[in-house]
Amino acid sequence: MTPAPRTVAVIGGGIAGLTAAYDLAAAGCEVTVLETSDRVGGKLRQAEVGGIAVDVGAESILARRAEGLDLVRDIGLIDAIEHPSTASASIWTRDALRPMPPTVMGVPADLQALLASGIVTEAPESAPAAVPDEDVSVASFVEQRLGREVVDRLIEPLLGGVYAGHSDRLSLRATAPQVLALGGDLVSGAARSLAERAQAQQSSQPSPVFFAPTGGVGTLPDAIVAAGDFAVRTSTTVRGLDRLPAHEPGSPRWRLTIGPTTAIEHLEVDAVVVATPAPAAARLLSDVAPRAAFALAAVEYASVALVTFCLGGEFRTTGSGFLAPPVDGTVIKGASFSSSKWQWSRDAASDRAIVRTSIGRAGETLLLQNDDENLVRLALADLTAAVGQAGPVIDAHVHRWGGGLPQYEVGHLDVVDEIDADIASVEGLEVCGAAYRGVGIPAVIGTARVAAARLLGRETLGS
Ligand SMILES: Cc1cc2nc3c(=O)[nH]c(=O)nc-3n(C[C@H](O)[C@H](O)[C@H](O)COP(=O)(O)OP(=O)(O)OC[C@H]3O[C@@H](n4cnc5c(N)ncnc54)[C@H](O)[C@@H]3O)c2cc1C
Repeated sequence: MTPAPRTVAVIGGGIAGLTAAYDLAAAGCEVTVLETSDRVGGKLRQAEVGGIAVDVGAESILARRAEGLDLVRDIGLIDAIEHPSTASASIWTRDALRPMPPTVMGVPADLQALLASGIVTEAPESAPAAVPDEDVSVASFVEQRLGREVVDRLIEPLLGGVYAGHSDRLSLRATAPQVLALGGDLVSGAARSLAERAQAQQSSQPSPVFFAPTGGVGTLPDAIVAAGDFAVRTSTTVRGLDRLPAHEPGSPRWRLTIGPTTAIEHLEVDAVVVATPAPAAARLLSDVAPRAAFALAAVEYASVALVTFCLGGEFRTTGSGFLAPPVDGTVIKGASFSSSKWQWSRDAASDRAIVRTSIGRAGETLLLQNDDENLVRLALADLTAAVGQAGPVIDAHVHRWGGGLPQYEVGHLDVVDEIDADIASVEGLEVCGAAYRGVGIPAVIGTARVAAARLLGRETLGS
């Protein structure tokens, strides 16, 4: 068996890179994280809005998957987490905020409740059909069984919220395995799934769906760095990755080319974890794992913008926020009432309200060409139309996430299997991050932990 590497370079200091670095360092490796921007965290980031540090990237972590909570426990933060005070979201459609009826990722469990919500105009007809063997788009799977209105007014806003994508292109297997698991009779499957969940909740402690560290998800990166025993070099771009000829046992296998083109530097290590988004990974891997690089180069990304408001006056809304179906043609695709959701945000905001609005889906680049001032104006107009009154605006902040979210198109998991096979054929090399098996933070952490375990010659870290 190959011995565990002594020195490891982790390229990319997002949640994936930091998690891999944490695990490798905990196992005794000498680890350096190389991050091109001036701070770690990637899509976990905070900015000041109205003098309050708020999340301008990810803001909540799924608690139903274990990976997020496990990491937080490992770094000693488990007693400093919060669950949202409210989880009831609405759909903003047909000129009203309409409470979301019971669904499994947009698949209704009760058609009468859906009709009563006013989200659809007619009760959809349920048309059960066999589950196909091959991957299909989420839209085609649901449309065949429940009609287009359910796709347009429930599935699309939900997927738009998570992937900033279009359900006509997104892979069922990669982006909505919960929907696939409902089987061919979607409504019965959803009703059964929710009933099972309710029963499980009754027989054990209620388990909230989401959590965040007190102070916000954006505080997590620095907490990992503080808890881990690894080095971080920010403002350091990795430009090239080469395999060194093995001169003698124990000599480094990899050479990284780093830094500005005017002051190139090299770093030699035993192993490398590439934890960047797909375009950068494709460039870095082009010589050392060309098949993986080719597949990664084809993964498309959606750009999004978050417009965060600090509002004065009374912000009279209930619930955690809303999602807007793209068929309604609104600029914002949803809003999160942060200071209604999180106690830490409420405490910091005091008599003000923090509201995040999000803009942009795959392919909608024109909208994002608006300057910041216009984006704020457009987002505020939509927010006001949705909630009735929003203001006065004390402060507004725009954060643009160019290439923010990978689009898992139909067949994505086969592509990832090919990438995995190519990477596995190269000793001392691993990849991880949002491009592979889920964009949510727990899934991303999962890929990082697997990458670290493989480099250490273990199947999982526990083994
Ligand atoms: C607006 C937004 C909101 C989101 N909200 C949520 C949420 O609430 N909950 C949730 O679970 N998920 C959410 N997500 C998704 C989740 O945040 C991301 O999928 C996840 O954080 C990605 O982590 P990562 O480490 O794979 O990649 P990234 O965060 O993209 O980190 C990769 C890092 O690599 C660096 N890098 C790139 N190239 C190089 C190079 N050549 N050399 C060195 N460094 C390089 C980048 O600068 C970056 O810091 C959201 C995403 C976005 C965009």
